[in-house]
Amino acid sequence: MPILSRKPAREPGSRSFAAAFAEPEIGAGRAARPTAPGVREAARASLFETCANPGCGSGWLHLWRSRTAPVFEGGWNCSPACTAARVEAAVRREMEGRGSAVENHRHRIPLGLVMLEQGWITAGQLRQALDAQKVAGAGRLGHWLVRQQGVSENLVTRALGLQWSCPVLPLEFHDAEGLTPLVPRLFIDAFGALPLRVAAGKLLYLGFEERLDPVLALSLERMTGLRVESGLVEGTLFRLAHARMLNAGFPAVGLIEAGSEQAAVHAFTKSIERARPAESRLVRVHDCLWLRMWRRAQTGPLPERDSVEDLICSIGAQ
Ligand SMILES: [Zn+2]
Repeated sequence: MPILSRKPAREPGSRSFAAAFAEPEIGAGRAARPTAPGVREAARASLFETCANPGCGSGWLHLWRSRTAPVFEGGWNCSPACTAARVEAAVRREMEGRGSAVENHRHRIPLGLVMLEQGWITAGQLRQALDAQKVAGAGRLGHWLVRQQGVSENLVTRALGLQWSCPVLPLEFHDAEGLTPLVPRLFIDAFGALPLRVAAGKLLYLGFEERLDPVLALSLERMTGLRVESGLVEGTLFRLAHARMLNAGFPAVGLIEAGSEQAAVHAFTKSIERARPAESRLVRVHDCLWLRMWRRAQTGPLPERDSVEDLICSIGAQ
């Protein structure tokens, strides 16, 4: 099912979405990772800059053109045709990595075994929870351990952290409204992610409930220029904050389904030419291409909500 046909509201079972899109692709498109928040570079764009399209034959200097925008991935484009050429190259780059790399699929010790080893549950508790899970034919083991065996949720989350070799992140104060300019609502919903906070202006803590999504984390690093530290958040706390965040105000977003890469290139180019952003960037997140446009030069790691605009495109079967 195409991702964009989903209803905006969260439905039961929507987490399986993450699984559906969790294709193996770690490392895809690493070359495009920005070295710093690239928007600042754009702000300093020289008047003597030439068109960023390597195939451009105009030789126009920025100085001679009234077109000061649009900027795409740090480079000024002298004409719509040059914008299209650069967007096309970026789409090709993003799609090339699709499904090629191997997922970080380390062997994971089963959760029950982790908890048993730590002495957090008894063999009897584990057996009963596994039986209950089998009879019900649904629910994760952790859920049954909490619900049926009275094991604390905190212990289950700590065990999941050991299983994934990742930290358990605290959720004491969560500024949902302040964080919405970082990640489109669609990704927060579909991939079960929760931006927690930005530390020291360069580190984004990203929380998950049961399993990490390294693909999303890498895409966010490339888009925001922030280093992303992923971790787990205790279930109940996570679900409350996640629901609150989904109700917060997000930057403007356009959702499109393109029948082909060429159609996606056309849609992105059209948006860039219309918005004339001070900077824009394209990354892939699972089966979506995400274009972000900054209307004005960025001054900090957290853009203002009204200064960014997203366009998310799912590419259909070709
Ligand atoms: Zn050009």
